[in-house]
Amino acid sequence: MAHAISRRQFLKLSAGGMSAVAAAEVAGLGFDVAPSQAATPKKQVKQGKEVPSVCPYCAVGCGQIVTVADGKIIDIQGNADSPLNEGTLCPKGAATFQLAVNPHRWTKVKYRAPNATEWTDMSLDEAMDRIAQKFKETRDANFIEKTKIGEEEKTVNHVLAIASLGGATIDDEWNYIHQKLMRATGVVSIENQARI
Ligand code: SF4
Repeated sequence: MAHAISRRQFLKLSAGGMSAVAAAEVAGLGFDVAPSQAATPKKQVKQGKEVPSVCPYCAVGCGQIVTVADGKIIDIQGNADSPLNEGTLCPKGAATFQLAVNPHRWTKVKYRAPNATEWTDMSLDEAMDRIAQKFKETRDANFIEKTKIGEEEKTVNHVLAIASLGGATIDDEWNYIHQKLMRATGVVSIENQARI
């Protein structure tokens, strides 16, 4: 009698290729894989060190397996052991490899000066210093300590000239620290695309 096979078992077996161990597992589930093994041409399976990871795209946090060889990422697929996605990935998550390994990816900060028509490269240190400097200048120039509400003057200690918008690739810990920093400096307009 054939055993029921879970989606996780199926994906694990599929992802691992039909090794001797996998074939034995499939056989244990009630399938005879010998004919299909004989008919299947040998295909090259990407082999390397498998590193468990998490999809960087959204707050669902699907598990991934990143395969690395010679210090380079050669494959990214769903992690069948993750209880969240059980080996599956949505189309966006399935394309994560192209996010990490892509000749079109910008690897330098681009800066366009006021009124300039061309973008120039800027070092990350320089860009971070500039952002920090502009943030401080804007905060200091727009910090409101007290405001009148009706007839009453209230302490607000806030800045309405700066807003913070986070992206879905920012993880929980980063979001936590980020909103702490924003609130500590008086920024009250804080939002994240993933709404966490
Ligand atoms: S983008 Fe897709 S694969 Fe990635 S965590 Fe979100 S739902 Fe999962």
